[in-house]
Amino acid sequence: MFVFFDIDATLVDHDKAAEMAASKFLQHFAHLLPYSHEAKFLKAWHEVSDRHNDLYFRGEVSLIEQRRNRMRELFAHAEPVLSGEEADTRFQVYLEHYESNWNLFDDVLPCLDSLTRIPLGLISNGDLEQQLRKLKQTNLDGRFSTIMVSSEIGVSKPKPEIFLEACRRAGVSPESCIYVGDRLDVDALASRAVGMKGVWLNRKELPMPNLSVPVISTLSELERCLAGHER
Ligand SMILES: [Mg+2]
Repeated sequence: MFVFFDIDATLVDHDKAAEMAASKFLQHFAHLLPYSHEAKFLKAWHEVSDRHNDLYFRGEVSLIEQRRNRMRELFAHAEPVLSGEEADTRFQVYLEHYESNWNLFDDVLPCLDSLTRIPLGLISNGDLEQQLRKLKQTNLDGRFSTIMVSSEIGVSKPKPEIFLEACRRAGVSPESCIYVGDRLDVDALASRAVGMKGVWLNRKELPMPNLSVPVISTLSELERCLAGHER
């Protein structure tokens, strides 16, 4: 058995870090942004981020362009032509706060410690260099024998190739692997489609569709969930 994990919102509390950083970003640029209420800004921030991240994950724009386009869209009302350099400078304000707020969920280390006899890996959508820094900062580096990040191969979840390439690197068949992630579609169902056992980590306790996917709400339930899987 080989257990692969997603990183963001599964091991590292990406949503909290992103929200705290967006809030600092608003404080920094309040004079240039048309939002009087933080909640409205955060909603717009997440909507813009998700849309441009999707384009990046689909390989339609580079990481740099994705970041610049987010800035250009947020400031478009006042500054229709934001240079690349200026957009980079503004994104950096967000990035510094985002990175300084990278933290693990409380259930991560006890879970990983309970799986010491099982080889572990990661399959993540994102930028390899940034994800490796994230692991180092949260003291997770060295815990995983196979690390597969989408920027390395230009293919992101939910595409089968990223899961299959991770299995190939680990030298294991998809059928002998578990994949644990916070997204039902992109993680659990996509990994199941290539033959892995996809486990949905439903941290937000979202309504569960009538699907035969194993579901856990915290990583403390993972060991019990794996007990039913042939080792
Ligand atoms: Mg995730």
